Amino acid sequence: MSGADTVFDRILRGAAPADVVYQDEHVLAFRDIHPQAPVHVLVIPKVRARSLQDLAERDAGEAGAFLKGVVTVANTLGLAETGYRVVMNTGRHAQQSVDYLHAHILGGRPMRWPPG
Ligand code: AMP
Repeated sequence: MSGADTVFDRILRGAAPADVVYQDEHVLAFRDIHPQAPVHVLVIPKVRARSLQDLAERDAGEAGAFLKGVVTVANTLGLAETGYRVVMNTGRHAQQSVDYLHAHILGGRPMRWPPG
C-alpha cells in the first residue's frame, strides 16, 4: 500500500534501531521510547496498515493474526495474570502520531479509567 515512510516502517526493515521483545511471521514488538508504564511495548503488523481503520478493510485473517499477536506479546511479557491495557490510537482526536498501525501494551501497574 502507499503512504509515507514512517519510523515504524524503518524499524520493520531494520533501518532504524528498536528494542525488540518479540516477533513472528505476523507481528513485531518493541519497547516504546517514552514508556508510560513499567511495561510499555508497541506491536505492529508485518503487513503494512496505516491504522485500525485501514486494517479493518483487509481480509479478516490479517486482523485476526494481528490481534492474536498482541495477546501473544502480552503473554510473553508475563502480563496475563495481573492484566494489561491495549490502546490503538486511531486518527487525529486520538492523537495517533505515527501513521503505521500499532497497539500499545501497557502493564506492570494498576491503570486508572477513564483515559484523558
Ligand atoms: P501514538 O501516539 O499512538 O501514535 O504512539 C506512538 C508511540 O510511538 C509513542 O508512544 C512514541 O513514544 C513511540 N515511538 C515513536 N518513535 C519511536 C521509536 N523510534 N521507537 C519506539 N517507540 C517510538
